[in-house]
Amino acid sequence: MQKIDVIIVGGGMVGTSLALALARSGMHTALVEQQTLQPGLLLMDDPWQPRVSALTEASIKLLDYLGAREGIQRACPYTHMTVWDGEGTGAVEFDAKTWPQKNLGYIVENDVIRNALLQQLARSTVECFEQQTVLEYQLCGQGGEIVLKNGDVLRAPLLVAADGAQSCLRQLSGIPVNQKDYKHHALVTTVETELFHQHCARQVFLDTGPLAFLPLQSQGEQHYCSIVWSLLPAEADRIDALSDDAFCRELERAFEHRAGNILQVDQRFRYPLRQRHARQYHRQGVVLVGDAAHTIHPLAGQGVNLGFLDVAVLGEELIKAANRGDDYFAAHVLDRYQRRRIGHNSLIMKAMAGFQNLFGVDDPAIRWLRNTGLSLTNRLPLIKEMIVGQASGLSKDIPGFMQ
Ligand SMILES: Cc1cc2nc3c(=O)[nH]c(=O)nc-3n(C[C@H](O)[C@H](O)[C@H](O)COP(=O)(O)OP(=O)(O)OC[C@H]3O[C@@H](n4cnc5c(N)ncnc54)[C@H](O)[C@@H]3O)c2cc1C
Repeated sequence: MQKIDVIIVGGGMVGTSLALALARSGMHTALVEQQTLQPGLLLMDDPWQPRVSALTEASIKLLDYLGAREGIQRACPYTHMTVWDGEGTGAVEFDAKTWPQKNLGYIVENDVIRNALLQQLARSTVECFEQQTVLEYQLCGQGGEIVLKNGDVLRAPLLVAADGAQSCLRQLSGIPVNQKDYKHHALVTTVETELFHQHCARQVFLDTGPLAFLPLQSQGEQHYCSIVWSLLPAEADRIDALSDDAFCRELERAFEHRAGNILQVDQRFRYPLRQRHARQYHRQGVVLVGDAAHTIHPLAGQGVNLGFLDVAVLGEELIKAANRGDDYFAAHVLDRYQRRRIGHNSLIMKAMAGFQNLFGVDDPAIRWLRNTGLSLTNRLPLIKEMIVGQASGLSKDIPGFMQ
């Protein structure tokens, strides 16, 4: 086998993106994934996939750079965003008109994004090890060595853990993680709604947690939204046990009938939500990206967007080091990646925890302040522009090709 420069474990949206970025720069990259890495054939009228992402402008730029944007056929742009308090006294609205981009973002099914990346992977020089898991990891001279389920042994100066929240490679390399239960379970599904969503992403903060209606592409006269309903676990038990019809009625009430009647609901999926943040982003030849490094509450739809920013920054640091003849796997190079990403990820996590706490309080004085704050924010265009800038992922320390 040829010498491998970087081994990436985990071929989800984040790991596949990094593999493509490194291969483009001429690095010999291997990708290990426990599922298949073959792209599928997705048709416009295929059933909706339950998991979606609200992609920011920065993420779109990365996908564009990797050649994957064209493969994303089913994406719904949103030009407006409304967030309001279930008590009905505070609301804030965002409009793409005040922003140089035409849209605030795009709602895309995760499988559609991954499939577009896999199409590029099939054309790339990345060496793929599909339907394989990592059984062992050990330090080996300058770098690390992994043993795969089929007995293959792979060695490289640098290994990347992109294997998700339960990252096996992170655990094998002994990187500690801070964890906190959000005490919310997310119910995720797709619904057909009576009213058109007008390309608006909407979220109401209820006593039991936030409920988001994310716009999907209409099919003829039929309108669809992806639902992410975060609930206290006991309430999630109750709502999950409802018949489809009773679930639709409950959803209509919770959403104040703003989408009209809910005409149909797909299968429901449930995810316990947990905040995780690795205490360091690299150790002993292993570096973390995406959910392997951090998981956050989906209330602001930032999870994979943060992962894509990790990819862009790590890719930039490794490629810059390799181009100047430096050891791309050296600790000072990985420290730079950690410095550029850990603070930003931490800040977003704190903001999400703050939101969750603020909307979970019973104290009437705090509720009044919160609702007044929302309405006040709504009247301050400069503040709103700052929030949209932050949420787009473009206002931070991002690589040149994304500007
Ligand atoms: C309910 C919900 C809603 C969300 N909504 C949004 C949103 O709107 N916007 C947003 O940005 N984010 C959102 N997120 C977060 C987002 O889904 C994740 O951040 C994203 O999927 C992480 O991608 P990843 O590639 O890092 O990890 P994963 O998607 O978990 O991929 C990891 C990959 O590694 C593979 N793997 C795992 N273990 C091994 C192993 N041992 N060996 C080999 N391969 C392995 C897996 O098969 C998988 O392909 C949401 C999350 C939840 C729970």
